[in-house]
Amino acid sequence: MRTHLLKTLDGWGERLLHLLRYNDGGFINRPLFALPVPHTWEHVPGITLLGDAAHLMPPLGLGANLAMLDGTELATALVTEPDVDDAVRAYESIMLPVRPRPPGSARKDSKTSCPRRAPRRRCDR
Ligand SMILES: Cc1cc2nc3c(=O)[nH]c(=O)nc-3n(C[C@H](O)[C@H](O)[C@H](O)COP(=O)(O)OP(=O)(O)OC[C@H]3O[C@@H](n4cnc5c(N)ncnc54)[C@H](O)[C@@H]3O)c2cc1C
Repeated sequence: MRTHLLKTLDGWGERLLHLLRYNDGGFINRPLFALPVPHTWEHVPGITLLGDAAHLMPPLGLGANLAMLDGTELATALVTEPDVDDAVRAYESIMLPVRPRPPGSARKDSKTSCPRRAPRRRCDR
């Protein structure tokens, strides 16, 4: 695995490569998962999804932001709508049309976020 990673990441920043060359632990496979896009559902009274449960995607720096935005919108709906079901409907009417991304974009992003040749400066930060 070490040999494979060093070959794959040849040209990346020295500080990153140092970690790969000299760490004394084993390599643990931690797969990344993404929900299909667009991901939607039929409304169920009083139940909804937010954050990764609603739109899990590869770690591209968006997930925590979306989870917080979802939480804010659901909380706002809960204090402004007359009951829980109206709040869930209001939240889903805002969240569902906005969050799904074009088909394939998450998969494409996951490839482009790990370029074979990453700029050295970025990796050395
Ligand atoms: C390697 C990596 C890097 C990332 N980097 C970024 C980044 O730079 N910027 C960014 O914005 N996002 C990033 N993300 C994504 C971000 O971490 C997630 O999108 C965000 O944490 C989603 O929040 P969440 O509350 O929806 O889910 P989670 O944070 O996963 O919270 C779900 C919680 O539910 C708990 N749980 C699960 N099942 C049960 C159960 N049955 N009963 C009770 N509790 C349960 C879990 O233990 C967990 O605490 C990254 C993710 C990964 C994996």
